[in-house]
Amino acid sequence: METLTQLSPNEIKFEEKYGPFINGEVIAPANGYIDAVNAATGEVLAQIGRGGKEDIDKAVKAARAAFPGWANTPIEERSALLNKIADVLEENQERLKLMESMDTGRALHEFDLDYKLAIYQFRYFAGALLTYYEGASRPVENGYLITKKEPLGVAAQIIPWNVPMIMASFKLAPALAAGNTVVLKPAEDACLSIMELAKLMGDILPKGVVNVVPGYGQEAGQALIDHPDVDKLAFTGSVEVGRLVGKTAGERILPVTLELGGKAPHIVFPDVDIDSAVENATLGYTFFNGESCILGTRLLIHDDIYDEFVEKLIERAKQVKIGPPTDRSTRLAALVNEKQGKRVLNYFKIAKEEGAKILYGGNRVTVPGHEYGYFIEPTIIEAEPHMRIAQEEIFGPAATVTRWKDVEEVIKIANDVEYGLAAGIMTNDLVKAMDTANKIEAGSVWINSYFNFQSGAPFGGYKNSGVGREYSKEALDEYSQSKTIVTAYQLPPA
Ligand code: NAD
Repeated sequence: METLTQLSPNEIKFEEKYGPFINGEVIAPANGYIDAVNAATGEVLAQIGRGGKEDIDKAVKAARAAFPGWANTPIEERSALLNKIADVLEENQERLKLMESMDTGRALHEFDLDYKLAIYQFRYFAGALLTYYEGASRPVENGYLITKKEPLGVAAQIIPWNVPMIMASFKLAPALAAGNTVVLKPAEDACLSIMELAKLMGDILPKGVVNVVPGYGQEAGQALIDHPDVDKLAFTGSVEVGRLVGKTAGERILPVTLELGGKAPHIVFPDVDIDSAVENATLGYTFFNGESCILGTRLLIHDDIYDEFVEKLIERAKQVKIGPPTDRSTRLAALVNEKQGKRVLNYFKIAKEEGAKILYGGNRVTVPGHEYGYFIEPTIIEAEPHMRIAQEEIFGPAATVTRWKDVEEVIKIANDVEYGLAAGIMTNDLVKAMDTANKIEAGSVWINSYFNFQSGAPFGGYKNSGVGREYSKEALDEYSQSKTIVTAYQLPPA
C-alpha cells in the first residue's frame, strides 16, 4: 500500500491537554484529567479530559441546539462538508497515524488501512446521502401519499480503543449524513487522534453538530447513555457493556446499534495452496495486533492438510516482526495497556489448564527501549472447539487450530459460538465456498481474502455480535426514521 508517512515520532506535537470538545470549543472538564500514555514506552503523551455528567449535559444541550439547523441543511451542503472532513483527514493522516500508533501501541504500517477506511467512510456517505432522499410518493384515492426520511435527533455514540479512527468514522459519517447531531465518547485507553479529529471537524461543521467528550466508561459513557435528551444509542465494544446499552435502549424505547465481539472461524479446505493459505491466515489473526473483533482467530483446518498447514503456520509465526510500534517494518507491536496484556496472557493460562496445547508463542517479549509495553508473540494453540480459548474473545495475536473431516461438521463448529461477526473460507472450489458461506452465521464472510472490505458492503453482527449494520447505505437507516404523509384533496362530504 502506498505510504505518505515521512514524519518521525519526535516531530509529533500533542496538545498538553485535550478537554471535551463542546459547541465548537475545547473546554475544561468538570472532573480534571487522565494521563494518556504511549502504550509501548509508558511516556505520558498528553492529558485527556475526565468527562463527567456535567460535561455530557453541556454536550447534549449543544447537540440539541444545533440539531434543527443541521437537519435542515440542504443535502448538497451536508455532502460537501462530509467531503471536507475526508479532505482534512487525508491532509493530516501522517500526523494522526503516528499519534494513533503511539497511543494504541499498534504497528504504524497498519494505519494505512485504518485511514483508508476512515477517509472512505466520509466520502462514501457524502455520496450516499445524495441518493438517499428519493422519497417514495404515489397517488391514492382522492389524494397522494409521501414517505419521507427524517433524522432521529441527537445521537449518543460510544467507541472502543482498538481502531479509534475507523470506529469514529463508522459512527460519525452516517449519523451526520442523515442529519443528526452527535455526542461521541471515545475510549479512555486511546483517543488522542479522535480529540484531534474533533478540532479539525470544528473548523468545518457548524458549532454543536459534533461534540466529543473523553473520559471513563462508567462516568462519561454511563452519563451519555443515561442522558434523557438523546434520541439514538450507538455502541461498539464488549458484549458486557453492549448489554447495558441495549437494556437502556429497551427501557427508553430508543433505536440502538450495537457492534460487539467476535470469534471468527477461518475454514481451510484441503484443495488450497498451503503457502498462500498460511499467509492469509496469519494476516487474519495478527493484523490489528490481534485486537479486533473481526479477526479470523479460529482456524479450522481439513485433516488432509492439517499437519503441513500447522507446521507452516508456526514457521510463519516465527517470522512475524515484533518491534516498536512506530517503526514501519514492525508487524506486531504492543497491546493497548497492561490490563489488556494480562488479560491475553491469562487466556493462555486458561487454555493450558483446559488441556489445550500451545504449539507456538504464548509469551510476552521485550522490545529494547520499550520494556513498558505488552508485546505478545503470535500464538498458535491446538484446541477443542468447546474450550474457552476457542469460544471467547481473546483480543490478542492468537489463533486456535482445530482439525475437521466433514463439511457439515465444520459448519457446525464454525457456528457453535455466541458470536457471528465475520468468517473466512479458503478453497478453490467456489461452489463449496458459496454453499459454506450461505450456512455460516456471520455478518461478513470473506472467501480467499481475509479483511476484504468493499465499498457499500453492510458490516455488522449476527447473534451476540450485535444489532444493526454500519459501513454501508444501511447505516443511514440506522440514523433515520420514516414518516408517511397521506393527503386527501378535500375533506369527505359531511
Ligand atoms: P468496553 O466495552 O468496556 O469499552 C468500550 C467503550 O465503552 C469505551 O469507550 C468505554 O469507556 C465504554 N464504556 C465502558 N463501560 C461503560 C458503561 N457502563 N457505560 C457506557 N460506556 C461504557 O471494552 P474494554 O474494557 O475496553 O475491552 C474489554 C474487552 O471488550 C476486550 O478485551 C475485547 O474482548 C472487547 N472489545 C471489543 C471491541 C469490539 O470492537 N467489538 C472493542 C474493544 C473491546
